[in-house]
Amino acid sequence: MPSDPWEQWDSPPAPRRRPQAPQAAEPRRTRVVVGAAVAALVLVGGGALAMAWTGDDGSPTQVVGGATDPTAVGVSTDSSGTGVPSGSGAQPNNQAAQPPTSSSASVPGPPADSTAPNPPATPANPGKPLAGKTIVIDPGHNPGNARHTSEIGRQVDAGGFRKNCDETGTETNAGYTEAQFTLDVAQRARRVLTDMGAKVVFTWDNDRAWGPCVDERARIGNDAHADAVVSIHGDGAPSTGSGFHVIVPATVKAGTADTGPIIAPSRALGDALVGAFTQATHSHAADYIGTAGIDVRSDLGGLNLSKVPKVFIECGNMRNAGDAQRMTDPTWRQTAAEGVANGIRDYLMKGT
Ligand SMILES: [Zn+2]
Repeated sequence: MPSDPWEQWDSPPAPRRRPQAPQAAEPRRTRVVVGAAVAALVLVGGGALAMAWTGDDGSPTQVVGGATDPTAVGVSTDSSGTGVPSGSGAQPNNQAAQPPTSSSASVPGPPADSTAPNPPATPANPGKPLAGKTIVIDPGHNPGNARHTSEIGRQVDAGGFRKNCDETGTETNAGYTEAQFTLDVAQRARRVLTDMGAKVVFTWDNDRAWGPCVDERARIGNDAHADAVVSIHGDGAPSTGSGFHVIVPATVKAGTADTGPIIAPSRALGDALVGAFTQATHSHAADYIGTAGIDVRSDLGGLNLSKVPKVFIECGNMRNAGDAQRMTDPTWRQTAAEGVANGIRDYLMKGT
């Protein structure tokens, strides 16, 4: 991305200085989204609440406290200031601000949207086209992260710089969290990929209280010698933006990170995902970021530390009403899962 300030950081061969860069400048797309659900919780909690489900995928952790102004709903900032570790400044009151739940299954979203398109039938795969392939699926965030701010605020290696272990993620105005969304889509995608014959490994599967950290998420893909890794997310962008996009790694060579070998195959994976996701979901490429559904980033530890082809997919903008409605609909999520699986299949079938 020409406008990406990190490009300047990536290029010059100054390895000793690189670790300083991310410390000095906030990655470019800090988002602080204070959702309506938070406002609602504030009211419920008598105005003492200080918790927001914030941040997105690799964006710097923003656990925002003191959000007592309902007019703050939907506020999004593009910060260029100092990072805000989850435990700093406005420490949320964990007791008063429980996240919806740690169990994604027990917090259903709004009713399915009857106007949503029917999902395409899962294609028959008698030939098991992905037999012998290992796919790692990384459901972004964790519903328990919001209750473990100190743990996820721990600084970990992100590829020549350090950043928070993990983020809380975003949510819809109705309180459907990104972490619930990502796990559901991941589990649906696993079923499709398994039917295709693939071995599917998860970075977490509703089996831990928080995390994993971004470096561990990358390591799981590396240790599995995955043929492809897809990290599933929902974005938390300004509400006027809609659509999905795929994030592919930029060139990062710093510390333990060297994305050089995965740049091309990850881009091919990303391109395949854009095509398959469009076809399966009838969604459009994001109208607020990236180019034709592809965004290149150097600030995501989960990509920087990967040794195998890896991308993130932001399936939609959970802060946008239309996208939120679709993402809350299990029928649409099934199409999203099939789009992800089909994109992986298409990439691997090309022999890239
Ligand atoms: Zn995310």
